[in-house]
Amino acid sequence: MTAKDPIDRRGLSRRFWERKPLAKLNQQEWEALCDGCGKCCLNKLEDADTGDVALTRVACRLLDDESCRCTQYDIRHQFVPECIVLTPKNLDEHAYWMPQTCAYRLLWEGKSLPEWHPLLTGTPKSVHDAGVSVQGWTVSEFETPEEDWEDHIIEEPI
Ligand code: SF4
Ligand code: SF4
Repeated sequence: MTAKDPIDRRGLSRRFWERKPLAKLNQQEWEALCDGCGKCCLNKLEDADTGDVALTRVACRLLDDESCRCTQYDIRHQFVPECIVLTPKNLDEHAYWMPQTCAYRLLWEGKSLPEWHPLLTGTPKSVHDAGVSVQGWTVSEFETPEEDWEDHIIEEPI
């Protein structure tokens, strides 16, 4: 069974993301933009020469690939110190490696949210129904040595 969605999207202004710049969003609005796809929790391979980033299906050790959520979100830095806390201030720096369907990246690129986004459908299930989340298809980083990650590169969008 999928865990309850931890993102509170109640009481938000209608289509606030179209009326406010990212830097002006309050904390609840910012968090609500996350569609819960889990793709930013996949390990990435970056080409040192070209800077190209490839996503793999090898998931961070803390990702639950049924709910597509971090199992230790509040204390995750104790286990994964390098996990990024994305904010409006550091989005410029990180957008290039974010998944192509990520709402933060899409809005940063001046694009619209996709029709399956939970803010538009009213249900977090829509991201899974659209086949855009990592639900059920990751492999564990514990069981997958880093030298094999190249064999697990995925194409985007999925
Ligand atoms: S890729 Fe973006 S939308 Fe998907 S879980 Fe990560 S932050 Fe949320
Ligand atoms: S620590 Fe949690 S939020 Fe960070 S990459 Fe891993 S699963 Fe995702």
